[in-house]
Amino acid sequence: MVKQQLQIKVTLEGIEELYTNHPDYTFLVKFKCINCGEISDKWHDVCESHTFPGRSGKYEVNFCAKCKLCSREGTVDIIAGSNGKYTNDNQGNFAPIVTFECRGFELIDFTPGTGWIAKVEESATIFKNVDLSDKEWVEYDEKSHQSVSVFLLESRFVPVK
Ligand SMILES: [Zn+2]
Repeated sequence: MVKQQLQIKVTLEGIEELYTNHPDYTFLVKFKCINCGEISDKWHDVCESHTFPGRSGKYEVNFCAKCKLCSREGTVDIIAGSNGKYTNDNQGNFAPIVTFECRGFELIDFTPGTGWIAKVEESATIFKNVDLSDKEWVEYDEKSHQSVSVFLLESRFVPVK
């Protein structure tokens, strides 16, 4: 079992906080099979509110699949309560967004997709369902009369204890 923390580094303009609408947010990830090293060629959905029977059906997990090369089963679980917010204090640095518990797979890539929430610093306006599929988002905040934006620069997985 390996725990991997997803960290992001973004540029925020006029935005105080950026976070996912967990537990309904769908993380799009790619993984590597620890057994044979095969890398998944498509994005897989991992969502905290969707569970499936895990290995031997003994427990519920958020994602379960068989490696298409060696048929070894792997699972990915979102650790409850591990969700974090990216704030404007974090700018220039990586900050944790969520932690996964993986068996048989290692997460290697992430793409942000839709379902983010952005809070405007000046007006406290909340924008829901922010789409970061293009790794950038620009909107006009009527309340504070300014355009606000998010640019996703990078993401990475870091092993944690
Ligand atoms: Zn494999």
